[in-house]
Amino acid sequence: MNQTERNQQLFDRARAVIPGGVNSPVRAFKAVGGTPRFIQKAQGAYMWDAVGARYIDYIGSWGPMILGHGHPAVIEAVQQAVTEGLSFGAPTEREIELAEAILALMPSMEMVRLVSSGTEAAMSALRLARGATGRKTIIKFEGCYHGHADALLVKAGSGLATFGNPTSAGVPPEVVQHTLVLRYNDLPQLEAAFAEHGRDIACLMIEAIAGNMNFVRATPEFARRCRELCTQHGALLVFDEVMTGFRVGLQGAQGVLANQVEGGLAAVRPDLTVLGKVIGGGMPLAAFGGPRAIMEQLAPQGPVYQAGTLSGNPVATACGLATLREIAKPGFYEALAAKTRSLVDGLKSAAQAEGVAFSADCEGGMFGFFLLDALPQDYTSVMKSDGTRFNTLFHGLLDRGVYIAPALYEAGFVSAAHTQDDIAQTVEAARAIFKQLGRAA
Ligand SMILES: *Cc1c(COP(=O)(O)O)cnc(C)c1O
Repeated sequence: MNQTERNQQLFDRARAVIPGGVNSPVRAFKAVGGTPRFIQKAQGAYMWDAVGARYIDYIGSWGPMILGHGHPAVIEAVQQAVTEGLSFGAPTEREIELAEAILALMPSMEMVRLVSSGTEAAMSALRLARGATGRKTIIKFEGCYHGHADALLVKAGSGLATFGNPTSAGVPPEVVQHTLVLRYNDLPQLEAAFAEHGRDIACLMIEAIAGNMNFVRATPEFARRCRELCTQHGALLVFDEVMTGFRVGLQGAQGVLANQVEGGLAAVRPDLTVLGKVIGGGMPLAAFGGPRAIMEQLAPQGPVYQAGTLSGNPVATACGLATLREIAKPGFYEALAAKTRSLVDGLKSAAQAEGVAFSADCEGGMFGFFLLDALPQDYTSVMKSDGTRFNTLFHGLLDRGVYIAPALYEAGFVSAAHTQDDIAQTVEAARAIFKQLGRAA
């Protein structure tokens, strides 16, 4: 049986028992067409599918696998933890160790609570922000994703700074009636929203480097103004760093921005930070945290309820802790960033040589590229990318053993396990497709 047949056979079997054949929609290749690859195993920078075909992996489980797959220190920590017990539903010393490790790395946080997914962390941070401020309204930005809590599954309504419409069936309009959806990087609209709704705003939630519209940076001025307006109006600033935390640098996107604005971290410091992906190292683990006075509003200390049967799971915390120990080693991000940069530069020059419109950006181990002349600043411009050309690129790379995200609005990830040789192979694979795209243009 050839590769397509075997993967297709599994896909057909999956679709008979799992909606769409997948447990998270983007895995189904709906945007790019074709047959999803069913993965059998992964090691280092590679994944192997159901027929043993190898791929250089630039998804890294959508971010967590920053050390590459199967890092020996992580596997050892997990194996040790497994022998000690899978779940206790009682506190453990390892949860303290992980909390201490996170707080030591993230200067904006004084306390942290562990949960099991980014969705749960963002949803809980939102409840906490509303509970702590006694307000209802929240601001989110078009193109930012904060997991699938009802109040956050919302797109812009018609007109300037209006309340949003649900993006999913099953979310009643009443549930999103307090969610204001604004354009990313649009300062005048942000000012207008605070001028009109300032005293009702509980929090502004933002991906300060947005990875769910591929790769779009909040401008330093925009981030600074978000902080200022929240402070002026008594709203909480929430950075959703589920993707960027420990990915774009040791202090996440807030650390990157702190280096870009006058006044450093204080000028952009979030009240609450939402973490996930890398902090679990591939296990279900996420977190949210901030200043003591706000975090102590959480149950059992305060009135804001939040709980989880598997929260702080001993195996997940062992995995997260081992991962954080590796990434905190001196020089880790410098090496990772240099590698990611060389991928981005290689792709750019290959596209340019073939006359293909292409722009790309990266930070730490995260990158994004667009089949556009210039980097977009907001969701509308991201969506001007040509889907057909992206699909040609995606399938061309996949056929050549390079696995990038199967959707043009998703970021990419490089791990510590990727070699310069992997990157050179990737650039050569892309060059062959750029030649095709260049001729077709
Ligand atoms: C992935 C992601 C989430 C959701 O995390 P899950 O673990 O998939 O629930 C939330 N916010 C951002 C920014 C993300 O990238």
